[in-house]
Amino acid sequence: MQNGILYVVSTPIGHLADITYRAVETLQKVDLIAAEDTRHSRPLLQHYGITTPVIAYHDHNEEGAGYQLLRRLEEGQQIAMISDAGTPLIRDPGFQLVRECHRRNLRVVPIPGPSALLCALAAAGVAPDRFSFEGFPPRTRNARQEFFRELRHASQTVILYEASHRIMATLADAITILGPEREAAIGRELTKRHETLLHGPLEQLQESLRQSPNQRKGEFVLLIAAAPAPPADAIPPDTEQMLTLLLAELPLKRACALAAQISGMSKNVLYRRALELNEEPDREVSI
Ligand code: SAM
Repeated sequence: MQNGILYVVSTPIGHLADITYRAVETLQKVDLIAAEDTRHSRPLLQHYGITTPVIAYHDHNEEGAGYQLLRRLEEGQQIAMISDAGTPLIRDPGFQLVRECHRRNLRVVPIPGPSALLCALAAAGVAPDRFSFEGFPPRTRNARQEFFRELRHASQTVILYEASHRIMATLADAITILGPEREAAIGRELTKRHETLLHGPLEQLQESLRQSPNQRKGEFVLLIAAAPAPPADAIPPDTEQMLTLLLAELPLKRACALAAQISGMSKNVLYRRALELNEEPDREVSI
């Protein structure tokens, strides 16, 4: 008997027309659709005249329903998995099933389409060449600030999802940790009637949302640009610490030469800094 296929099908994130021909064809031809929430997906399926049977498949029943789906796939059936919006698995259920399919040598076929993170990145005006998707930030202030602390020196754009009732708190914590000037963008209600794209320093985005309650409604993608590159002659804290230790033990020129050799930084830059350190009260440097 031939094994079945699991299709991972992306569906619209707001605009019913944002679905590919191939996705519609696939949803029509499969034996079964596994949906995150059958009630939520019904309008979409009705709109495209899709009459394929649908069963619920979400986080709470991933194991039970997953087992049934795997059995059907092994019997040769074709199943399409969809989530409430966008691409399954992307902060949506489906990963366990996909992984188990690979473990059992069952074929998994992606049917690509919308995802809020790429939709936002494509239009937000922040650098798209390198990015990381970090999902939803933690819900409590302490954990969220720690989360931003870890991202403080990120050298890539960071993409986050956020709910309307937490967007102001998340912006406030981002400002506290990353500073008001950090370049950022917000994609709100993407592909929907009230779609908004805002781009600017974090503080400006916060002000825009503060001024208009409507701007705080709906679904959000927050994009935070990479940390600005430090000036070429900036001495990283660990190099400065090493220089200080060497200066306490060695003559200034020797300390600078060694620090330059170890860190790979310019000897002149370190020398200038060593002279400044020398000027600081309570510090004695041997010349
Ligand atoms: N699987 C989806 C995807 O591929 O983007 C994401 C599902 S996740 C449970 C839902 C979150 O995605 C929302 O809280 C919001 O942060 C973001 N999102 C989904 N649709 C959006 C839209 N139209 N505009 C802005 N953000 C959206």
